[in-house]
Amino acid sequence: MSERKAIVVGAGLVGSVLTILLAKRGYEVVVYEKRPDMRAAGFVGGRSINLAMSDRGWKAMEQAGIHDEIKSIAIPMKGRMMHDVSGELTFQPYGKEGQAIYSVSRGGLNLRLLELADAFPNVTLNFEQGTRRVDLRNKEVHLPEGKDSAPLIFGTDGAFSAVRGSMQRMPRFNYSQQYLPHGYKELHIPPGPGGTHQIDKHSLHIWPRGHFMLIALPNEDGSFTCTLFLPFEGKESFENLNTDEEILEFFKTFFPDTLELMPDLVNDFRDNPTSALVTVRCKPWQVDNQVLLIGDASHAIVPFYGQGMNSGFEDCTILNELMKTYEDDWDKIMPLFANSRPQDANAIADLALRNFVEMRDLVGDPQFLLRKKIEGWLQDEFPKEFLPLYSMVTFSHIPYSQAWQEGQAQDELMEKILAMPGIEDNWKTEEVKEVFREWHRDRDREEKTYSKPREL
Ligand SMILES: Cc1cc2nc3c(=O)[nH]c(=O)nc-3n(C[C@H](O)[C@H](O)[C@H](O)COP(=O)(O)OP(=O)(O)OC[C@H]3O[C@@H](n4cnc5c(N)ncnc54)[C@H](O)[C@@H]3O)c2cc1C
Repeated sequence: MSERKAIVVGAGLVGSVLTILLAKRGYEVVVYEKRPDMRAAGFVGGRSINLAMSDRGWKAMEQAGIHDEIKSIAIPMKGRMMHDVSGELTFQPYGKEGQAIYSVSRGGLNLRLLELADAFPNVTLNFEQGTRRVDLRNKEVHLPEGKDSAPLIFGTDGAFSAVRGSMQRMPRFNYSQQYLPHGYKELHIPPGPGGTHQIDKHSLHIWPRGHFMLIALPNEDGSFTCTLFLPFEGKESFENLNTDEEILEFFKTFFPDTLELMPDLVNDFRDNPTSALVTVRCKPWQVDNQVLLIGDASHAIVPFYGQGMNSGFEDCTILNELMKTYEDDWDKIMPLFANSRPQDANAIADLALRNFVEMRDLVGDPQFLLRKKIEGWLQDEFPKEFLPLYSMVTFSHIPYSQAWQEGQAQDELMEKILAMPGIEDNWKTEEVKEVFREWHRDRDREEKTYSKPREL
């Protein structure tokens, strides 16, 4: 067995990027994927399901060598476009001028990553080879027929990982999964005449309705992929949307401006599955410095911060940097990664759950919109001292756990500012700046007292 052999279980988004990075460093990489080869199955011809890519994801694309190519087919979304029940629109930028998150096709991206991986002579891709389990003692991957072994095995097989399933049988393995009471269903807005976009192409559209919401992300062909997030049970819920009339009535009541955009609404609603949303946490992520879980396999999160794929890609870039720093000494790399990264995965899991409330409930709230405006102004006034939480998560590489800590401190600051009398009408003031300066002095003191250098 070659010392430089690695097995990657799962050729989804994260497994494909990891394969490319390992291949670039000269490893012999053998990939086992459960599904058929999407290149042969014509995956891209089907309807596009899209994801929001942000800075952490782009960094991995750079390392994989496809940044420019993917960027050329990605659609920048510069902010949220909120649709209220009367069809009134409010736009709120995500960041500063020139900053955006990008809508990319999941199938298109995965397919391109597979093509790239396949171009390396030291990569072997095997499809329809679902891993049943991993013999952790002998470092053997059990396949439908036979088994394979390697000194390095990576579990990138998603939220219901078989590799993790084997680890769960180990003593002292911690594992939790938490389902939201909400599910989701994908719907579709077709292109307008001549392949045009029927609603603004450069926004992520949100119809926030309290305890549920609809969102839409643009596709290159003029269409939008919509996702309805709704409780499984209760008054407004999937269990109460059974007949065509019930579905239409629900959309007429809560999303009236979508009816003429979605001529196939009822059929799509019936045909497309209702899926569940899960948060997975576990520890340890590695066994004997030889078997490692990354991506959704170790930290599946709910999609409301648009960071699931981005955080999995960041796993890949961190591992790549560690491979360089420690010259492929996995006895150093695996414990370092597996001891420090879970705190960031936990932070983004918490942030994603919190952002669900923000998206479905608060984005239509005037107080929340005021907060965002004040945050933007503070960022302009104190560019070195203040970066809003959303920007730290989306447009920076600050570790998620640090961003989350800073975000909690920002909540305290904004609570103070929003409680100032008459703030709604007059917030660009010296008094607000003074509250900020005082908060910042306190933060500085706290950091000097408590913070210790991070290992990564
Ligand atoms: C509705 C929704 C919207 C989302 N939107 C965003 C977004 O906007 N931005 C973002 O960053 N993230 C988003 N995410 C999260 C993102 O989809 C995941 O974080 C990402 O796909 C994780 O990649 P992965 O490669 O770890 O897992 P997966 O993409 O699940 O890939 C796992 C792969 O392993 C294979 N596999 C499974 N079991 C086995 C086995 N036993 N043996 C071999 N192969 C196996 C699967 O076939 C698959 O190819 C969203 C998720 C959902 C549900």
